Amino acid sequence: MHLKSLTLKGFKSFASATTLRLEPGITCVVGPNGSGKSNVVDAISWVLGEQGAKALRGGKMEDVIFAGTSGRAPLGRAEVTLTIDNSDAALPIDYSEVSITRRMFRDGAGEYEINGSSCRLLDIQELLSDSGIGREMHVIVGQGQLDSVLQSKPEDRRAYIEEAAGVLKHRKRKEKALRK
Ligand code: ATP
Ligand code: MG
Repeated sequence: MHLKSLTLKGFKSFASATTLRLEPGITCVVGPNGSGKSNVVDAISWVLGEQGAKALRGGKMEDVIFAGTSGRAPLGRAEVTLTIDNSDAALPIDYSEVSITRRMFRDGAGEYEINGSSCRLLDIQELLSDSGIGREMHVIVGQGQLDSVLQSKPEDRRAYIEEAAGVLKHRKRKEKALRK
């Protein structure tokens, strides 16, 4: 299983439909400051169901919709599709390719689709639940965080790794329980 492509339409700075083709292995996105590299990463979080505007570097959820520039009017909706290669049947669905779409309108209404059929966010979360991707399962190290990971003290670095592995929340729960 690997991410095959990502299409952004009206998402943040990507006003026109833009498709990034992804190959197995490492993908690098390069470009000048402000060209939209982080917006691409935000699009992946968003299509997988991110609900927090802050995690998407915005003040409110509507900020993901193209807000217009001096030469181009704002748009009424944002849409992102992530296509996953499922030829190894890692996802429990009878398709060798799975496309997940999220759409959002200015009035706040939103919708999700799996392979073009309307679904709930829960259906997407269930589909991805054992795959290592999906909400809280993939790990996105944000801009500026990398230095602090590399330069941190061993115990702080351990916390990062534990968070990535999903251990931290259990440790916090344990500490809380022991305090009672
Ligand atoms: P850097 O190298 O500095 O990290 P970057 O390539 O990661 O840059 P991004 O943060 O992805 O850049 O993109 C920032 C740009 O996206 C800004 O120019 C900002 O105005 C634009 N942008 C963000 N949200 C929207 C929106 N809703 N509508 C239009 N443009 C937007
Ligand atoms: Mg950036």
